[in-house]
Amino acid sequence: MNASEAERRTRDLLERDASSVWHPFTQHAVWPDDDPLVIDRAEGMRVFDTQGRSYLDGNSSLWVNVHGHRVPEIDQAIRDQLERLGHTTFLGSTHETGIELAEMLVARTPQRLTRAFFSSDGASSVEAAIKMAFQSAAQRGQHRPLYLHIAEGYHGDTLGAVSVGGIEQFHATYRPLLLATVMADSPGILREGQTRAERAAEVLQQMRELLERDGQRICGIVIEPLVQAAAGMLTHDASFVMGVRQLCDEFDTLMIVDEVATGLGRTGSMWAVDRAGVEPDLLTLGKGITGGYLPLSAVMASESVYESFLGAPTSGRTFFHGHSYTANPLCCAAAIANLHLMDQRNTVAHAAHIGEVIAEELAVLHGDDRVVEVRRIGTMTGIEVAPVDGVDRTGFAVCQHMRTLGVLTRPLSDVVVLMPPLAMSDDDVRTMTAAAIESIRAVVR
Ligand SMILES: *Cc1c(COP(=O)(O)O)cnc(C)c1O
Repeated sequence: MNASEAERRTRDLLERDASSVWHPFTQHAVWPDDDPLVIDRAEGMRVFDTQGRSYLDGNSSLWVNVHGHRVPEIDQAIRDQLERLGHTTFLGSTHETGIELAEMLVARTPQRLTRAFFSSDGASSVEAAIKMAFQSAAQRGQHRPLYLHIAEGYHGDTLGAVSVGGIEQFHATYRPLLLATVMADSPGILREGQTRAERAAEVLQQMRELLERDGQRICGIVIEPLVQAAAGMLTHDASFVMGVRQLCDEFDTLMIVDEVATGLGRTGSMWAVDRAGVEPDLLTLGKGITGGYLPLSAVMASESVYESFLGAPTSGRTFFHGHSYTANPLCCAAAIANLHLMDQRNTVAHAAHIGEVIAEELAVLHGDDRVVEVRRIGTMTGIEVAPVDGVDRTGFAVCQHMRTLGVLTRPLSDVVVLMPPLAMSDDDVRTMTAAAIESIRAVVR
C-alpha cells in the first residue's frame, strides 16, 4: 500500500468510526479533532498505525501488556487451546485449563488465598468481591451492608465498583444510584509538609473513628494497595496497607485489596501487598493476567470466606453470581502461558529493575518547576505537570507531543503516565523517558 492509499484508508476508517462507534472515556464532541490513531498491528514493544508509523507502547496498552505484543508462546497457547475447546460453561461443569490456572494463581498469591473465582474484567471481579464480602458476613449472622473505602479510589465502572470508588470527575454523576458506603480520605494526598508515613497514620486514625462508629455494619475495607492508579498514580506508604490489615482484624471485617492494576509485577513485586508483608481476605486481579491479550479477571478468596458459603443447596448459601464466559478457556490458556513466561524470564525482577531505570532517567525533572511531582512504585509512574495557562488539557498536550516522538501513552488529567510492559528493555525504557522529558520541556513552559 502506498502513502496515499494508506492515508485514504485511515480517513475512511475514521469516518466510519465517527458514524458508528462510541468509545470508552471519550468526549466525542472533540474526538475527531484529537487526531485519533488507527492501530493496525503490533509487534514486541511497538504498535503500528494504518499509516505504517510505529510507536513504543509506553502504557502497556492501558496497563495490560506484560511481555510485549505477538509473543510467540502466548499466541501458540491460544492456538493450541482453540484446537481443543474454544468455550464451554463453568456453571456446573469444569475444564482442565481453568483448573490449572486456578492452581497457578493459588500458588502465586498470598498463602491465605486458596480459591480462585473467575470473571472477565477488573470491574466485574470487584463486583464479585464486594458481593462475597456482604454475603459472607450475612452467612455468619451479621448484617453488614456498608463498605469502607478511600477517596480517589478507582475500581472499575460498574455500579458496585463505582460505589467503592472516589474520583469525583468519574463518579459524582452516579452518586444517586450508588451503594451506601463510608469513605475515608486518600492516604496519597498529602497536606503541606506532611510525609507519606504521617499521612498514612492520619488516615488510619480517621478510618478507626469511622469503624468505631459504623464498624458493626461494615463488611469490608476496599483499597488499591500502594498506588491509587487511576487517580494519577497517587502513592502511599506501606504502613497504610499494614494498618488497614490491623483495623480489619480488630473490627472483624474483610480486607479487600484491588490489585487489578498493581498486581502481577507492576510494582516490582508480584503483589503490592507483598511489599507491605500483608495478606488480604479477598484480592482482585485482572489487567496483566493474560499478558494483555484477552479479558480475564479473578477474585482470590481465603478459605474462611469460601467456607462461609458452604451448606445445603436449599440453604441459600450459594454464591449466585457468574457470567456466560466465566473462565473462558482461551483466556485461561493465555493466562497460563503468560504466568509460565513470567516464571521463566524472571519478569517481576526485571520490572523492578526497569522501575529503577525510570527513576534514574526522570531524576533530571527534580526541581524543575514544570513538574509538580514524579510518583513511582516499580514500573507504575506518574509525572504530574504544572497546568499551563492557555493550554487546554496540559497532560494530553504532552502525550500528543510524545506521540510525534514515537511513544504512546495516555494521561490522567495533568499526570503523564509511564507504565511500560514489564519486559521492556532498558534501551526502550530510556527512549520512553527521553520522549516524556523532551515533551514536557516543549509543552510546559
Ligand atoms: C482498571 C482497574 C479496574 C477495572 O478493570 P477493567 O478491566 O477496566 O474493568 C479495577 N481496579 C483497578 C485498580 C483498576 O486499575
